[in-house]
Amino acid sequence: MEKDRFDPVRALAGSKHTFGEHGGVNLSIEASTTFTVMAAATMPELFAGHRTADRDGCFLYARHFNPTVYTLGRELAALEDTESGYCCASGIAAVAATIMQLCDHGDHVVASRAVYGGSHALLGELLPAKAGLRTTFVPITDLAAVEAAFTPRTRVLFTETVSNPTLEVADLQALADLAHRHGAALVVDNTFCPVMITPARHGADVVVHSLTKFINGASDLVAGAILGKADLIGRLMDLHTGALMLLGPTMDPRTAFEVSMRLPHLPLRIAEHSRRAMILASRLDELGVAVTYPGLRRHPQHALMRRQLNPGQGFGGLLTLDLGTRARADRFMDLLQNQHRFGFMAVSLGYAETLMSASASSTSSELSDEELALAGIGPGLVRMSIGITGDLEDRWAALHAALRAVDALPAGA
Ligand code: PLP
Repeated sequence: MEKDRFDPVRALAGSKHTFGEHGGVNLSIEASTTFTVMAAATMPELFAGHRTADRDGCFLYARHFNPTVYTLGRELAALEDTESGYCCASGIAAVAATIMQLCDHGDHVVASRAVYGGSHALLGELLPAKAGLRTTFVPITDLAAVEAAFTPRTRVLFTETVSNPTLEVADLQALADLAHRHGAALVVDNTFCPVMITPARHGADVVVHSLTKFINGASDLVAGAILGKADLIGRLMDLHTGALMLLGPTMDPRTAFEVSMRLPHLPLRIAEHSRRAMILASRLDELGVAVTYPGLRRHPQHALMRRQLNPGQGFGGLLTLDLGTRARADRFMDLLQNQHRFGFMAVSLGYAETLMSASASSTSSELSDEELALAGIGPGLVRMSIGITGDLEDRWAALHAALRAVDALPAGA
């Protein structure tokens, strides 16, 4: 078992290095939108799919495959231990294209009820209305409830590795077994856990990412990736039926270059996000504050998370605090940003600075009040993506002072 353990840091470092056009240590940005052929007869072969980027290194048009974007796809496929991968314009495009590729009109999706609000709206509203899909949302940690939701038309089981924002941990192997028993694919959004967890190693068929978050790390671009079997990537680019090819959420090669440049220090960043989040969560827990963090022993899926983790990356950079009411959450965040310079009130995650938002009124506001209650997203829930800058003791002092100011510390703490 240990021998077989996947090490994404090694896999990333060992993936084939792409040199620049003139032997540069960095890959080149291939900015061209169209590519020449050396003989007229080659072009019809490209259109017919007889020559491909994957097999023959042949490129056609930038909305189809682009060499720089393709290189990033290969690097991410190495990181996620999948056969192939390609990138697109955003994380939500990666989710949408994958679901549309795997499902036909009238098909059914079983999805975790605690997923990013945009994915929830896509699966629960847009795709049912426009593409005739049906989605049943389930508590992903209740395997019996997940299984009960399957129908003969279920094609996809969709979950986040660690849910946004409730930080529930999915049992990927159990979900994969269940999906496969019903002839469906397990699609996992691994945005919260790059390097930490490798879903394909636990049976996932497709892994999607919002590269906008930890993988890029600088909150300066929007991007996504789909990682899986070469056959799926090929189908996504099919000239007649490919969801990436025909819906057109194309990644710009300059974006691919930027993201690729940040991959070498991704493991270092993740380990530091995790280290700091673990220290802050443990201290909050000791004080008796309502903190949720998968690294805490009392987290309901702590043991499962530990089993699924790759070595050395910790339990991730996300934690939540429940302050009970929205007013208290708002005051807490105001103080942390404007008085203590602890972090920023902003959505998104994986930035060098701490980002914080009250999920119910921001990134989960697409859910109805009933859905929020079912998912356990209260009005006072503050999600924090713990940053990697500044002195940790200063940050702790700020957090403690803000909690005291909003009367969120238990007596004596
Ligand atoms: N998946 C998760 C878990 C997210 O948190 C988000 C955005 O917050 C997305 C997908 C969508 O990503 P993007 O904003 O890159 O489209």
